[in-house]
Order: sequence, then C-alpha cells, then structure tokens
Amino acid sequence: MARSLPNIIITGTPGTGKTSHCELLAERTGLKHLSVNDVVKNRECHEGWDDEYQSWIVDEDKLLDAIEDEVKEGGRIIDWHACDLFPKSWIDLVVVLRVDTATLYDRLTARKYPEVKLQENLDSEIMEVLLQEAKESYDEEIVVELQSVTADEMESNVERIEQWLGQWKENNTP
Ligand code: ADP
Ligand code: MN
Repeated sequence: MARSLPNIIITGTPGTGKTSHCELLAERTGLKHLSVNDVVKNRECHEGWDDEYQSWIVDEDKLLDAIEDEVKEGGRIIDWHACDLFPKSWIDLVVVLRVDTATLYDRLTARKYPEVKLQENLDSEIMEVLLQEAKESYDEEIVVELQSVTADEMESNVERIEQWLGQWKENNTP
C-alpha cells in the first residue's frame, strides 16, 4: 500500500544539526520525528555499550524490526548518522547536512566527545562519508546536500523541505 505521507531521512556526521532540523521540521509540518538514538536505547536494539566510543553498539536487524511498522505507515523524519541500513523502498528523501571542520570541532568539543570519537567524526565529515553513503544507497535524485552552519541556513533548509513536502503531496494525491 502506498504511503499517504513521505518518509525523510535527515543524516550527517554527529553535530551537523540532524536533531535540530528534525525538531523544527516536525513542528512545522506535523511529520513525526523518529529519533533512532532513542529507539536504540529505549527498545534495546543494541549489543551493549562501547566504553571507548561512549555509544551503543547497534543491532541493525533489531532496529529495523522495531521501526518497520511506523516507517511503513509514512510521515516519519528519521534522525540518524547512517542511512545505508534502511530499505530503499521506505525512503522518499535523504537530506545530508554538512558543516565546516572548525564548526564541527566546536560543536563536538562542547559535547565533550572522547578524543578518538572526535577525530573520527571530523575525518568522516572531511571525507564526505555520509554524502557518499547516501549517494550509493539511494537514487541521486532523492539525495540533497545542505549546509548547516548558521541559524539562517537551518531556517532555509527547513523551508526548502517544506516546499518539497508540498510538492510530494500534490504528486501523490489520487
Ligand atoms: P546532531 O543531531 O546532528 O548531532 P544537533 O542538532 O544536536 O546535531 O546540533 C548540534 C549542535 O549544533 C547544537 O548545539 C545545535 O544547536 C547546533 N546547531 C546545529 N545546526 C545548527 C545551525 N544550522 N545553526 C546554528 N547552530 C546549529
Ligand atoms: Mn542528534
């Protein structure tokens, strides 16, 4: 059965602004913010805690099982720093948020990230890991790269996604 509302992934290196964008977009559109972080933690979709990285070791099969029903219903904004695990058929738009290295350094330092995790995330942003992952996993037409350094950029990004949503609804009205 076709979805009556689309599913959007907001992805990017930790600290690029995924959660901030998802919350604002949910408030503006009524789509539901699906925080994969919360699902992993609260529904125990993990194989324990990695002390060095200070993060859960995600069990992807469990995670997909946990979110399948609600994602298939549609109208979800998926908030996660990976995108290649979701079946293509679930997803209508993939937004990859980007920031410069100095901005990311400041944001992650403010979060007191352990050194190894800080360095790995900075490298990941410089190497465009998430952008490549998105382009390899989805049709290029549905992948959008957006800058997320300033509040004005966040505002215009959210407006742009709202416009896309309006268009999607028009195209998918029977
Ligand atoms: P993520 O969910 O990708 O880890 P967050 O949304 O938690 O990122 O944002 C990390 C920090 O950066 C927060 O303090 C947030 O307020 C700030 N931030 C994110 N995006 C922007 C932006 N476009 N302009 C200004 N500050 C931002
Ligand atoms: Mn987040």
